[in-house]
Amino acid sequence: MGFFERKPSAMQQQTPSVTPAPVEPSGLEHTGAQVIAFANQKGGVAKTTTTLNLAAAFSEKGHRVLCVDMDPQGNLTMSQGIDPDSLEVSMYDVLVHHTSIREVIRRREVDVACASIDLAGAEIAMSTQIGRERSLEKALAPIKPDYDFICIDTPPSLGLLTINALTVASKVIVPVQCEYLSMRGLIQLQNTLSMIRENLNPNVQIEGILPTLVDTRTVHAKEAIELLEENFGDRVFASRITKTVRFAEAPVKGMSVLKYDPDGKAAYAYRELAREVLENGKR
Ligand code: ADP
Ligand code: MG
Repeated sequence: MGFFERKPSAMQQQTPSVTPAPVEPSGLEHTGAQVIAFANQKGGVAKTTTTLNLAAAFSEKGHRVLCVDMDPQGNLTMSQGIDPDSLEVSMYDVLVHHTSIREVIRRREVDVACASIDLAGAEIAMSTQIGRERSLEKALAPIKPDYDFICIDTPPSLGLLTINALTVASKVIVPVQCEYLSMRGLIQLQNTLSMIRENLNPNVQIEGILPTLVDTRTVHAKEAIELLEENFGDRVFASRITKTVRFAEAPVKGMSVLKYDPDGKAAYAYRELAREVLENGKR
């Protein structure tokens, strides 16, 4: 059995009261948005960069896109030029006080449901709530018809915020930094996903593993990608995101790389990834 294959479920029978999420049709013939979570419990692997730039690439192709910032660090919020400290309400209020998510959405290149540092307290505040794993699912339900894609950025942990993202998502994209390849980390993520499938969301699947921060000059990067492909086969995207300083420059200007340097290699790489995800959706 491969790393990401689904194990037979024993827990499923024990939780008959949990209503399975509706099966999303693949491709774009759906009635509500396709929800994609970007997850890897390791920090600095380009989760936020990938969430924003893939979202911007979908938007360029004419899709309606919402990004949800589920990281208390608020990097996604900041990378669209929004100051998290200026927010009166944010994802914390959506998850903990059930404020309408519409109140925390700002329209930029894509729509952004904003986060600030107070989100760090959400896991504890939610921990005693019944249905705590489904707070985000409930918050997104009324606005799903408004979008084609909802892209959720997650914090570098497998805690309740990430669990909320995986519970509402139909697809997970896993950015992996090839310099510091950690198989153990991916197995841990896979185990969490198995638990989510058994108890909360039978439909969530790995859409693909994305090699990021690839340094094409080094043999090590090449070997790391080969190792990834040996272990995860066609779950590794054909797209590669190479290292370039553009990714550090663009967020300072509050832009995606697609807007900051539209004809650059970085923008092209995320357009390619968007094409790959849209093609997979048609399979
Ligand atoms: P995470 O959300 O997983 O913590 P980020 O998306 O914030 O990771 O990326 C970590 C850092 O690496 C950021 O400073 C970002 O600008 C930078 N970065 C991301 N992708 C690239 C890339 N392809 N080339 C160079 N720097 C990158
Ligand atoms: Mg991040």
